[in-house]
Amino acid sequence: TIILGIETSCDETAAAIVARNANGQGEVLSNIVRTQLDEHKAFGGVVPEIAARSHVQWLDHIVAQALDAANLGYKDLDGVAATAGPGLIGGVLVGLTTAKAIARAIGRPLIGVNHLEGHALTARLTNNTQFPFLLLLVSGGHSQFVLVKGVGEYERWGTTIDDALGEAFDKVAKMLNLGFPGGPKVEEWAKKGDANRFKFPRPLLKEKRLDFSFSGLKTAVRLAAEAAAPLSDQDVADICASFQSTIVAVLERRCAQALERFQEEFPDEVAQMVVAGGVAANQQIGEALRQVAFEHGAELIVPPMKLCTDNGAMIAWAGAERLALGQVDRSNIAARPRWPLDSDDMKLGDHHV
Ligand code: ATP
Ligand code: MG
Ligand code: FE
Repeated sequence: TIILGIETSCDETAAAIVARNANGQGEVLSNIVRTQLDEHKAFGGVVPEIAARSHVQWLDHIVAQALDAANLGYKDLDGVAATAGPGLIGGVLVGLTTAKAIARAIGRPLIGVNHLEGHALTARLTNNTQFPFLLLLVSGGHSQFVLVKGVGEYERWGTTIDDALGEAFDKVAKMLNLGFPGGPKVEEWAKKGDANRFKFPRPLLKEKRLDFSFSGLKTAVRLAAEAAAPLSDQDVADICASFQSTIVAVLERRCAQALERFQEEFPDEVAQMVVAGGVAANQQIGEALRQVAFEHGAELIVPPMKLCTDNGAMIAWAGAERLALGQVDRSNIAARPRWPLDSDDMKLGDHHV
């Protein structure tokens, strides 16, 4: 099965071709991502209207490039998958409408994919990961633990009650004038800093639930930066290091709890934890999570970064998995800004032939 996948829910215009064989193994035949970073940089964050216009301008070219790079034409496709939500509605509409037009033109099914399901199933494309597994999704828009029991079978175990983790990195970077996106900048500065200089709060750390909260931490960082102003390079480095080590402590604790819960619910399985989203690129976080997994006799799976951040291959793959399980054409699906993974309409049964 050969699927075209389109992703336009945020600030990446992306298209990819993915093949799935009868054994359920996947292969990325092409994966084209055009980031709009430069278009949003001056605003310190993604501007929805600019994003939507840029998707309109670029998507056709990106789709053509994806087909070219895979050495395929429209007639070779068995289906077209596109993000139908959640995300910035203007961008989602652009991708979904384009996908509908292509699917209609070639007479193949359209699969409207939940963006979060794309992230959730990527490890099955890259590492052939078997169900059930635990997903930690930490990106610019999401911070959540999801139990992945099967295609369409998700339980959300925890989420952020305020900011997403990548968003917290971005906001801290903005306060310190480090540029956008902030995650990589904060990580770079943190390397030269003293993580013990500032003691920041660790919200919800003592609680049993698997939720996150990062907005209090963000405020504490701002107050510390204001108190230490004017900031020397060393001050900036120390703030970044202290912030990042606080994040690491929170993630370590939460991941340990999540793994323990997984092991209680599935005593006969080797616990697998998949990390996805842009924040997974952070080396200190990656090393800490590897250690937590090791201590729990669990396996940590981090797909290649190009497939952890937003891309079309994950959408194509989710579409391929659904099609293989009998998902019917969804050409009447609507774009939506919100679409939790544990919604009822994620279940495959609702769409079976
Ligand atoms: P979505 O939430 O819909 O997946 P997104 O585009 O915001 O969309 P990603 O592209 O997965 O998310 O990731 C971008 C986020 O990851 C940004 O917030 C960025 O600051 C953060 N990030 C990237 N590299 C690092 C890093 N090395 N350390 C920490 N955060 C990072
Ligand atoms: Mg992005
Ligand atoms: Fe994403």
